[in-house]
Formats: sequence, C-alpha cells, structure tokens
Amino acid sequence: MTVDARPDDPSPTAGPRRRAPVVRAILVVSVLLLAASFLAAVARTRDAQRAALDARLDLAATDRTRTVAETFDRASSLLLVLARNSSFTELYADPVGAGTAVAVGTPLARAVTGTLLDFQQLYDRTTSEFCFIDVSGREYARVVNGRAAGPAQLSADESDTTFFAGALALPPGQVYQGEPYWSADTSGWVISSATAVSDGSGRVFGVLHFETVVDALATAIGDDSGAVEAQLVDRTTGRVLVDTRFPTVGTEELRTPGGDAYPFLAGATAAAGTTTVDRMRLAYRAVPVGEQNVNDWYLVVSAPAAAQGLLSGLDLSSLTLAGAAVLLLTVGGLTARTHQRRLHRAATSDGLTGLPNRNQLLEVAEKQLVLAQRGGTEMALLLLDLDRFKEINDTLGHQWGDELLRQIGPRLQPALRHTDLVARLGGDEFVVLLRDVGNEDTARRVAERIVSLLTQPFQLGDLSCGIEASIGIALGPRDGADVHELLQHADVAMYVAKENRFGVTVYESSLDLHNPRKLSMLGELRVAIEQQQLELHFQPINALAVGARRGVEALVRWNHPERGLVPPDEFIPLAEHTALMQPITAYVLDRALAQCRRWLDEGHSISMAVNISARSLHDPTFYDLVYGTLLRHGVSPDLLDLEITESAIMVDPKGARELLVRLHDLGVRLSIDDFGTGYSSLAYLKTLPVHSLKIDRSFVRGLEADQSDAVIVQSVIDLGRNLGLSVVAEGVEDGPTADHLTRLGCTMGQGWFWSRAQPAADLSDWVAASPAVEPSAAGERAGAPVPGRQGSVR
Ligand code: C2E
Ligand code: CA
Ligand code: CA
Repeated sequence: MTVDARPDDPSPTAGPRRRAPVVRAILVVSVLLLAASFLAAVARTRDAQRAALDARLDLAATDRTRTVAETFDRASSLLLVLARNSSFTELYADPVGAGTAVAVGTPLARAVTGTLLDFQQLYDRTTSEFCFIDVSGREYARVVNGRAAGPAQLSADESDTTFFAGALALPPGQVYQGEPYWSADTSGWVISSATAVSDGSGRVFGVLHFETVVDALATAIGDDSGAVEAQLVDRTTGRVLVDTRFPTVGTEELRTPGGDAYPFLAGATAAAGTTTVDRMRLAYRAVPVGEQNVNDWYLVVSAPAAAQGLLSGLDLSSLTLAGAAVLLLTVGGLTARTHQRRLHRAATSDGLTGLPNRNQLLEVAEKQLVLAQRGGTEMALLLLDLDRFKEINDTLGHQWGDELLRQIGPRLQPALRHTDLVARLGGDEFVVLLRDVGNEDTARRVAERIVSLLTQPFQLGDLSCGIEASIGIALGPRDGADVHELLQHADVAMYVAKENRFGVTVYESSLDLHNPRKLSMLGELRVAIEQQQLELHFQPINALAVGARRGVEALVRWNHPERGLVPPDEFIPLAEHTALMQPITAYVLDRALAQCRRWLDEGHSISMAVNISARSLHDPTFYDLVYGTLLRHGVSPDLLDLEITESAIMVDPKGARELLVRLHDLGVRLSIDDFGTGYSSLAYLKTLPVHSLKIDRSFVRGLEADQSDAVIVQSVIDLGRNLGLSVVAEGVEDGPTADHLTRLGCTMGQGWFWSRAQPAADLSDWVAASPAVEPSAAGERAGAPVPGRQGSVR
C-alpha cells in the first residue's frame, strides 16, 4: 500500500513507515476478528445442529421405547378380546371345566385353540407361541408358529414354570416378562410373557402365555430409512442385546454379531441422556419396566455425529477454507432453519389450505390479547362460517369443496392488513384475527367487506359459484378474558347471524335477549356438565324377526333444576355450535360405557349405540377419547356402535372417512343415523366402513299411509341388503308398522312400540327377559368381529 506524500507534510518519508504497523495491526485484528467470528459461527452452528440431532434422537428414543413397552403390553388388548370371545365366555360359564379337569380335545378346547390361532395370525412374526393354561397348571391349548399342538403334545403341568407363578401373582392385564431364552421349538431367541385371564368378575381362569420374538423387536424399533440405528442394551452389563442392523445369533447367550457393549451404560441409573461415542451421537432411554419384569433395558438410538458436522475437517487458519466455511455455514444454517420451519409449519398449519390452524391461531391470539390488555386497545376475532358449503360439497363433490376452501384465504386478503391473520378451524369454519381494531365499528366494517368479497363468484373448474357466509365478532379483552371465551362468544354471535341471516353480528351480552332460552342455556349448560345434570336414557333396539334384543341407544337428557327434563333437541343443536359439544360427547360416552359395563357385570352383553355430533368427526382427539373410554370400562369395541348422521360426514368427507376407518379398525361399529335425507352422497357412503343404516323416523312414520314413504323405506332396506349392512327402522310406533317392516325385509327396529327411552333401572325387565341374539341372526354383515381389530388398541 502506498501513501502519497502531500506537499505540506513536514516529514515526507516518516508517514508510510509510521502508518505501516498500524495498517498491519488493523489487518491482523480484522483477520483475528474474522477468524473468531468464523469460529464462533462454526461453534454455534455445530451446537444448533447437535441440538437438532439430539432432539431428533430423543424423539426417536421415546417413540421406540413406547413401541417396546407396547409389544409386551399387547396382552391387555388380547384380554379385551378374550373377555368377549365366545369360546372363552363358555369357559368362564363352566366352572368345572375351567377350574379343574381339562377337557382336552373337546369342541371347547378346539374353539380355544382357534382363538389362539387368530392371535398368532394377528401377531404374525412378532410372537412365536401362544398357549392357554388353566388354573391347575394344565396346558389347555397351544399354537406354535401358526400350528396347533395336538392333545398329546400338551403339557400336563406347567405350574412350576416361573411365568405361571409370575403371571398369577399379577392382576389380570399386567404382563409377566421373563428372561430371553433360546427356543428350540422355533430356533430363535424369545421372551416369555404371560398374563392372568379372568372373566368380568375378576375370577381367574388361567394364564395366557406368549413368546415375543426378540428379532421382531429389532424390526419394531428399526426405521425404514436406516437413518437412525437402534439397540436394546442390558442395563446391568451394558451389552447390546438387540440391534437393528443384525439378527441375534448363537444359542448360549443373547447377543448380536456387532457384539458391542456400551460400558458407560452398565449399571447406569439415568432415565435418559445423550452422548457421543466413536463419532456417533447416541440418545438412550430406559424401557419402562412392569412389576414382574426381569428385563431392565436401555433403548439406544444413534446417528453419525459427523453427518451433521460438514465442517468438522475445517482448517480455519486458511482463509480459503474459512471462506468455504462461511458458505457452508450459511447453507447449513439455512437448511437447519428450513427444516425447523417445515416442522413448525406442519404443526401450526392446516393441511388442506395451508392457512394457520387452530393451534397457531390460539397462540397468536393469546399474545395479541395480552398486548391489547396492556395497551388498553382491542383485538377482534371474526368467526366465519360458510352458509351453503354442505350443498356445494354434496352437489359438486368434495374435491371441489376442498378447492373452494383453498380459495377462501386468498379471497379475504383485500379486506385485511398484513398484520391480520386468517386461520382455518376445521370444516368450513375460519377465523380472522384483527390486531388493534380500535373499536367495534372497524371490526364490523372488515367483516362486512369479507362477506361481500365472498359473494363474488368462485371459479371451480368451469363452474362459477357464489357463496354466503355468516360472521360472529368478539372483541378482546372487552368480550372475554381469554381466547377460548372470545371464540365461544364469537360463536354465539355467529349463531345469531346465521339464524337471522344478518351476515355479521357483533357479540354483546344482550344478544341473549334475542333468544333468551337458547342463548342463556349455553352458559347453564356448561354448569350442567360440571354438576352432572345430564343423564342418559336408553332405548332398546330390537331384532324384528326374532323379537329379541340387539342393543340400546343412549339418548341424553338434561335434568334442569327448574325446567325439569329438557329433551336433547333443545340443547344439542345449540351445543354443536360451541366448544361445549366436546365435553358433552365425552360425558355421554363415559356414562354409556359405564352402563354397558354394569350390564356386562350382571351377565348381559348389550351393545350400546351413542350419537356422535359433526364436531367429533373433526376432533383430532376423538379417537383417543373413544379408545380411552373403552379401555377404562373394559368394554370390547364391538359393543360400541357410534351413530353419525349423513350430513355430519359430508361436512368434510375425507377427514371423516379417515377417522371412521380408524374407528372401524379398532373394532367399533358405525351406523349412519337419520338415513334417507341425502341421496346425493350415496356413492360415497358406500366406501365408508359402516355396519348399519338407521332409516329416519320421518319415513317410518308414514310407512302405512304414504306410498312414497313406503317406497323410500323399501329402497333403503334393499340398499342395506346389497351393501351387506343391517338396517334399523327408527320411530316404530305400532304393531302394523313393525309387521310391515318385517315383510319388507327390515331386520331391526326401534321405537315406542317396544319401549320409550328410559333410565337403565326401568329397563331391567327388558334386559333380564330377552335372550341375546347372535349378530348373524340379526342379519348383520357376515363374520364375527375380527379380534385383530382390538389388536391395534393401544
Ligand atoms: P335420534 O338419534 O334420531 O334419536 C332418536 C329419537 O327418536 C329420540 O329422540 C327418541 O326418543 C325418538 N324416538 C324413539 N322412538 C320413537 C317413536 O316411536 N316415535 C317418535 N316420534 N320418536 C321416537 P330424542 O331422545 O329426543 O333425541 C333427539 C335427537 O337428539 C336424537 O335423534 C339425536 O340426534 C340427538 N341426541 C340425543 N342424544 C344425543 C347425544 O348424546 N349426543 C348427540 N350428539 N346427539 C344426541
Ligand atoms: Ca341416533
Ligand atoms: Ca336417528
């Protein structure tokens, strides 16, 4: 670098000499700073990458630990099956055969063997053996690798085995788990698992023993992509017992050809942790142990630590490499961020429209509400519900319905500021969040603008159609102290807007005056749920031909302290517009299955129909609710029949179908309620996994007098028969109607002719008098409930 000597410089040669060290120092400092910031950036990126990898590994470890626990816990689902299985109920009913001498080779023993064969098929490859041993220790039936053992091969006394005593020492449902051993029968390592089997009353009848294939655990904890390896490690020795990369080998001790041990895990006590071993990043987590479990394991998942550290070989003293590092860091950082963003987006956005979902709305709205409270301003929630969406879905098909929903977000944009947010709650419900609206009028103007934007035609293929919407507005904090309350008030306002065709309604407490009974009911209803004022009545459903029972339908009533018994029609439709429907459904389901259990305990297996509202079909927690309630009351899924109306399904057919398939796979029965009111969707209904159709009572009522009603009833019955569904006629009020239905080939009926809906106590005669009919006698879809369905109960 040269520095020109200026004419007035007193010492023309001293300048450059004096400045050179300064410049050099600046240069060195800059390079050092640059290097330091590179190093810091490298360290930060590595930390971030390590944190991301650790989080991923920990997630995988948690997930797979659960898988291992579930593999052993499967006994609880098997017991659910056994509680209802006809061969076992026969066994329970015959105390001599069950308790003392074993009638090996009898039809009953063969039936039990058949059940074990079903289990084996269900757990193909993961379980190599099932056997049932009665309380005396005598083996009653055994199935090994899909083959039933003959009477001669059955063991006379298994009572001295450790698993037998171990299982009997535990309450039914809990699993005894033995040490892994080499099974000569199946040439592989297995873990002996056993559980006590009892009838509903808790009397123990024997032990169900099954052998879990150790190599199957490797498949269970593996990962198709191979990106994450997993191992089961003995907590005492630190030895690897199961490795996703290798099958187990040898006959002396359980090990894998990898043969590794993790010395740091031997005798470790931490429940979980992460560490790096040989350039592999590991996350480990203790597998939960039951009471009688000799196995104490860690589950370890690992991935190359270096795979995330593209920069690990970086030589930072070289500027070239540092430059490369900057590039890599940027790319790496961006990739990590993109990945993170993608994950975040999946959790916070709606799959169909890409708009923020309920979660994100709640999160953002909560923040805005706090800001508004602090700043003395107002924010607004606009709850928007499309008015004719169901019609569009029904007439054009749901793919065009979906397309319409996708167009809503972009359509609203001109009415909004960039700080406002549009979210989809589900179905055809959207929420617009307006930050800082100043006053009610601003919010109302925006809402009116939205309504008018929506009336402009939408282009769906080569069709153009306009829609209408109703919007309810709630201002926060004015109309509610939290977001849930605000949403509920916006919902009330939307309801009023829709009922009165107002387009837009702003919530105010005086809204209650518009319909004092209905709207004040919402508030009371919340209290009613808490104070258990809701009660269930049960109405018998009868098999027409045999005149016997098939089950009951649970119908809710509100025992109001002042108004007396309020019928469901007066509060259910209202509740369906609010978040109150969820707790009501949960309550009804719980009480209904509790009653089912009570009847079971009294020796009556009565199927229970429960009405499900449209909301539940789009509630992501609904499946778990059903599953959990069944489990809590120990009721077999095939005793539960969920009644869903056609229109509820058609709000979001795709989402509904997914849920219904899962419920069906669980073993729950599904019925279409009020059938006959929406023929347009018939082709679609055909693809749903339903068991029965309930003909709407409006058609049944007119059966005798009205020729067109008779034609409709006849065609629904024929349709049901062709699809292999049972058909229930609702609202049968007299004998001639019942006879007529029988002649038309209807198999089941419900109505005042037999009984009104009554409290369970008043049904005791009906329960006691009528013998149960086999499902096949009642004309249901052939084939018993598949035990495998319950296998997926977790
Ligand atoms: P639904 O599911 O169609 O229930 C059948 C209704 O018909 C019941 O009215 C029942 O009492 C009535 N019914 C039974 N036999 C006869 C008859 O011979 N003639 C006449 N005219 N009616 C008969 P209910 O109990 O008033 O229930 C009305 C509706 O309320 C139900 O219609 C159902 O849609 C809804 N609902 C009831 N309980 C629940 C519930 O727990 N959850 C949900 N989501 N909805 C429920
Ligand atoms: Ca019903
Ligand atoms: Ca009905």
